[in-house]
Amino acid sequence: MPNLSVLPSFRLPVLFLALAVVPAAAQDDPLLALAARYRAEAIASKRILPEQFWEAVAPALGSAALGVEEVGRSGEGRPIRTVTFGRGPTRLLLWSQMHGDESSATMALADIIRWLADSAPDPRRDRIAERLTVVLLPMLNPDGAARFRRENAWGIDVNRDARRQVTPEARALKAVRDRVEPHFAFNLHDQNGRSRAGRGGPPAAFALLAPAADSARTWTPTRQRARRLAAAMATALGRHLPGRIAKYDDTWSARAFGDAMQAWGASTVLLETGALAGDPEKQRLRTLNVVALLTALEAIAADPAVPGPTAPYDGLPGNASTPYDLLVVGGTLQVPGLAPVQADLGFVHGGGVGATGLLLEDVGDLRDFAAVDTVDASGLVLIPSPVMLEAGGARRGIRLGAPAQLEARRGAETAFTISPSGRDRP
Ligand SMILES: [Zn+2]
Repeated sequence: MPNLSVLPSFRLPVLFLALAVVPAAAQDDPLLALAARYRAEAIASKRILPEQFWEAVAPALGSAALGVEEVGRSGEGRPIRTVTFGRGPTRLLLWSQMHGDESSATMALADIIRWLADSAPDPRRDRIAERLTVVLLPMLNPDGAARFRRENAWGIDVNRDARRQVTPEARALKAVRDRVEPHFAFNLHDQNGRSRAGRGGPPAAFALLAPAADSARTWTPTRQRARRLAAAMATALGRHLPGRIAKYDDTWSARAFGDAMQAWGASTVLLETGALAGDPEKQRLRTLNVVALLTALEAIAADPAVPGPTAPYDGLPGNASTPYDLLVVGGTLQVPGLAPVQADLGFVHGGGVGATGLLLEDVGDLRDFAAVDTVDASGLVLIPSPVMLEAGGARRGIRLGAPAQLEARRGAETAFTISPSGRDRP
């Protein structure tokens, strides 16, 4: 997903704060406690450089329980490594951050690596060691991670290179797949922070998918098993974030790795981390990644057939995208030299490295749309600052794509202002 998932805490909508309250029973989740206990503290922000990641897990990688192997080099020569745990007959492959600005699962893999490295007796870990062979491939696209952008150094989306495999990152992943021949695969991403759990629903904290293996989206036995596994993960996540888990779109693509892995015979689950109000650095979402992934490992260790219902997956609301990060509705827009009109303003966060401020996307009747945050400007006059107007001349219309910079007034009094970082009160 593009880098639109930045959700600064100032835009906490009260409604979603209320929805985000953790149910009391969830505090007792042993996997959540485990995630907290083994958290790699050196990683505290979603912008992680490749060398920072490997430094943070370096002490754990010395454990005799883990095997570390360089399986390739990125276009710019950064190492791509796998970390392997366990000696069991059922093989799993988990890779993260093939999109360089999608690091939530990478942070979770650091925590999981620290847990797997611990030599203290732990029935949970011992069972995984005995029954599974778990191959972790954190940060498949280190060149993208170094830039905190989706694509690799060539500007190629590695997840659209499963068919052609011209990038060393895609080839490294395929080579690991061919060698490991996993029974299960986990494709770990972050999605657009404006995605909702169902149309008009709250922001989706996670989306799950058992990707299609062909254009007919056939429910092969391999995909059925992935569906049941995704159901188990949805149940675990839903305990913490009821109503906030969505199902990702299952349109098949021959270029995408999740679809290809399913076709190559691994029961594959796509886990997309979304957004959570008050968690701009995705640290709570990181711990919930640990919960989801360890839930999956335990389910497979308990029975590789993964018996269980599909309903918790089938019943998930579809992932619906929201066009705006911020909507200012019901105000009267006053452009100098033009008649005042009633107009809603829709803003989106600018993409690209370093550009995260709100930009004007649309003006007009936008009442049918949901946004991450909506501000009611009824009875107010909206006065755009010069930066939002076209340059020069006597007639200066509104400039679409301009940085958000306006004042909402009631008479002579300022009710609030909008800046590239959001809404500010006077
Ligand atoms: Zn992605």
